Amino acid sequence: MKINVGRSVLELVQGDITQQDTEAIVNAANRSLLGGGGVDGAIHRAAGPQLLAECRTLGGCDTGDAVLTQGYNLKARYVIHTVGPVYRGPSAATERLLKSAYQRSLEVALAKGIRSVAFPSISTGAYGYPLEKAAVVALSTVMDFVRAHPQIERVRFVLFSEKAFNAFEAALKKLAENP
Ligand code: ADP
Repeated sequence: MKINVGRSVLELVQGDITQQDTEAIVNAANRSLLGGGGVDGAIHRAAGPQLLAECRTLGGCDTGDAVLTQGYNLKARYVIHTVGPVYRGPSAATERLLKSAYQRSLEVALAKGIRSVAFPSISTGAYGYPLEKAAVVALSTVMDFVRAHPQIERVRFVLFSEKAFNAFEAALKKLAENP
């Protein structure tokens, strides 16, 4: 699914984020930035050991913040590492942190002049954020950001499972009807 948001394009695809050819891909990392499972493990395997070497120099990343590295063996030139919140039940603070992870990732991209970014569904794996709720936060945050910053020309959500793709598709259809 693909829609225009302001002057930018927002895409949903089912697939593997390590294979994307956007200028940057976003990693759902943990605060240490020293490697984990899920999408983080896949990105480190595909990028090669130089990625972990650069991450070791960064001193971690706070929840809701984002930092930039090179992409090494990836097609993407850069990796933006962000840390989503661990879900422990509905909470406005947790929702704000998820929103912040998307927002800070896009601010980092903007500061570097990056025009295309691929995101995974942050916090919805090991961190347990319910997919349907996370999809609304992810999509509405990105839509607001690109409307205000059309320098970001393309944002692609890369959903690993059919379930995640369907949740994002349903949320995007609703948001596109009632922007
Ligand atoms: P978190 O700790 O933020 O929950 P996870 O990596 O456990 O991060 O999961 C985040 C999401 O990334 C999950 O929906 C998971 O299915 C998905 N995921 C795992 N591997 C990949 C991949 N190679 N490409 C895209 N998404 C992935």
